Amino acid sequence: MGSTGSIGRQTLDIISEYPDKFTPYLLTANSSVDLLVEQARKYLPKYVIIADKKYYESVRNALADINTKVLAGAVAITDAMNDPEIHTVVTAMVGYAGLSPTINAIKHGKNIALANKETLVVAGDLITRLLKNSDSKLYPVDSEHGAIWQCLAGEKHDDIYKLILTASGGPFRTKTKEELAHVTKEDALRHPNWNMGAKITIDSATMMNKGFEVMEAKWLFGIDLDKIEVVVHPQSIVHSMVEFIDGSVKAQLGLPDMRIPIRYALGFPERLYSDKQRMSVSDYVNLTFEKPDYEKFPMLQLAYEAAKAGGNVPCVLNAANEIAVDAFLKGKISFNGIAQLVENCLSKVDYIASPSYEDYVSTNQDARSLAEALLK
Ligand code: MG
Repeated sequence: MGSTGSIGRQTLDIISEYPDKFTPYLLTANSSVDLLVEQARKYLPKYVIIADKKYYESVRNALADINTKVLAGAVAITDAMNDPEIHTVVTAMVGYAGLSPTINAIKHGKNIALANKETLVVAGDLITRLLKNSDSKLYPVDSEHGAIWQCLAGEKHDDIYKLILTASGGPFRTKTKEELAHVTKEDALRHPNWNMGAKITIDSATMMNKGFEVMEAKWLFGIDLDKIEVVVHPQSIVHSMVEFIDGSVKAQLGLPDMRIPIRYALGFPERLYSDKQRMSVSDYVNLTFEKPDYEKFPMLQLAYEAAKAGGNVPCVLNAANEIAVDAFLKGKISFNGIAQLVENCLSKVDYIASPSYEDYVSTNQDARSLAEALLK
């Protein structure tokens, strides 16, 4: 899901590396018609689905001469998760759109390679409950969570003292709060280490991404928030760490290349041989670590507070953030305006302590409408 995005394209790279192990069966995209058509011609999946229905005709016409079936619409993506031929679903679409198909994939026992962290941010509680009653396994594709997953191999849950998530600090790590008021979209999209899609790159610049990852870690590994620490590590070589009760700390290192965690998640429990992303440790003699600046990056603080409040609050946080990031990318608000808009929304949506799926749907809509209204 989301085959034309950054993670989707890199997933197809990994699939091409091991043609005897993986067969792409279904590819979905939101609106990137040309690339979806190109991928369909190259990989010949059984189906492609374009989420935005207005592109249905153009995709269908472009693929009229091959056997790949073309469908359209977000509902078609959710429905496709029933297909008995699907073994593993890589969820790589952006934002809230990942929730409904992921729920259906879990209900049908598919393994999930989760790159869409918003699914756990919005509805971690619901997803965790569904997983308990399903045969599906949820494997993280996020580099930090992939690192923690590897550090926890062979360890007991009770022996974990804390999880230490590393953050690059993004492009604005060394800027002052005053300087942040004037940064542009182009500045924000220039991430120092990782080459990613626009939404997550802005989330990295505000450090919202790290806040989301704290929540993702809480649900994935069943760890209390006060045992999850964020440390800024500008070189992005240590992808995260686990401290154990005996004082020992394990870390996972590697080049900042998403194909490494994707390969691990798709291959698990096997490690798949590859010499494509080798690093020489002696090239990285300066690995540094520092505490994050919560005042300069208020989104990280907001994320901890939303996670602590629980219920539908993280869903509000995510929805308001999606609208705010979009508004920033369209030049409607400043960089510091992103956190202001999100904070404003958080105080205005009714609290629901144990939301059902329907509550998440209505909270998401309400928070989006509210954020849009506040923008005017
Ligand atoms: Mg990450």
